[in-house]
Amino acid sequence: MKGYAMLKIGESGWIEKDRPVCGPLDAICKPLAIAICTSDVHTLWEGAIGERHNMILGHECSAEVVEVGELVKDFKPGDRVLVPAITPDWNSLEAQAGYSMHSGGMLAGWKFSNFKDGVFSEYFHVNDADGNLALLPDSINTVDACMLSDMVPTGFHGVELADVQFGDSVLIIGIGPVGLMSVAGANMRGASRIMAVGTRRVCQEAAKGYGATDFISYKDGPLDEQVLKMTDGKGVDKIVIAGGSVSTFSEAVKCLKPGGKIGNVNYLGTGDVIDIPRVEWGVGMGHKQINGGLMPGGRLRMEKLASLIAAGKLDVSPLSTHVFDGWDHLEEALFLMKDKPADLIKPVVKLAD
Ligand code: NDP
Ligand code: ZN
Repeated sequence: MKGYAMLKIGESGWIEKDRPVCGPLDAICKPLAIAICTSDVHTLWEGAIGERHNMILGHECSAEVVEVGELVKDFKPGDRVLVPAITPDWNSLEAQAGYSMHSGGMLAGWKFSNFKDGVFSEYFHVNDADGNLALLPDSINTVDACMLSDMVPTGFHGVELADVQFGDSVLIIGIGPVGLMSVAGANMRGASRIMAVGTRRVCQEAAKGYGATDFISYKDGPLDEQVLKMTDGKGVDKIVIAGGSVSTFSEAVKCLKPGGKIGNVNYLGTGDVIDIPRVEWGVGMGHKQINGGLMPGGRLRMEKLASLIAAGKLDVSPLSTHVFDGWDHLEEALFLMKDKPADLIKPVVKLAD
């Protein structure tokens, strides 16, 4: 089979590989549509997870099941499915402790294009199919379904990590596709003021549609100065970080109220140390929590998030600004994500309706 792979850091291309083998609990699937992620850019061009040779990229897609193992109960060939980016081992101790995304070790629930071949491939392997896959509802098209692999669960997880409550003022740092879903999630959870950080106009427009009330450009000076000015020096209740760098945490801590919470879902591709400002962190006693997490996967969560789209409560269609037809456009779509032109939110390659 053909797959589009990271050949080494900074180099990618099509390669031939054997079709993966299906174990008793597994499924083999073929993609119906695939989306490119900023994480693919971190992995391939920044070498953020280290060197990988001939590893097929990609972790966001909707798919059709082509084969299942003899112990799989709830899926069969021909089923159209949602595929989460994170596919934990559900019988691991970490999963039993509530941290399935770290099943088998730190971040080890993230298998596609990390520890094994990803989904930019004619066929791909899914471990623990009954625990990880979810049926794709008929009312959700294959392109929108890709947003359920990672953008919706990650953006919403940022909101969970920040523990957004009714009436909270919330700062969302970064309004690419992940941060946009954090805006939508914070709005659903009853945030009052939602301040969004990002400069791309297309993202700002989408953020407004999802409930953002104020906009801030990180290019206009430190975020904390701007936020404190806009909040009469008080700061915000909660912050979701979905963009920026290791230095963003310092800005966030400075404009968070005592007792506030920061939820980070940004993938820190570079830098060694995250700075926490001593004084603004209450000289160690400010009750300002900082939490960072990889998105949870799992069938139940996928079904619940999909039900928001099916019920008309969440519209993910504004995210897919660039939709291509067919495998021939995959490389173009990947490079587009690297270059991030001003009109881009998310590139998707459609392979079937
Ligand atoms: P994008 O690159 O599309 O968006 C990044 C956002 O951050 C943009 O709005 C950008 O603004 C803004 N930004 C850039 N620089 C700064 C800065 N210095 N300060 C504040 N904001 C800044 O990324 P995605 O939305 O696709 O992904 C966001 C992050 O989430 C990535 O690091 C990705 O790898 C990670 N991720 C994490 C997952 C998880 O499970 N935790 C899963 C999936 C992704 P502008 O408008 O100017 O471009
Ligand atoms: Zn992703």
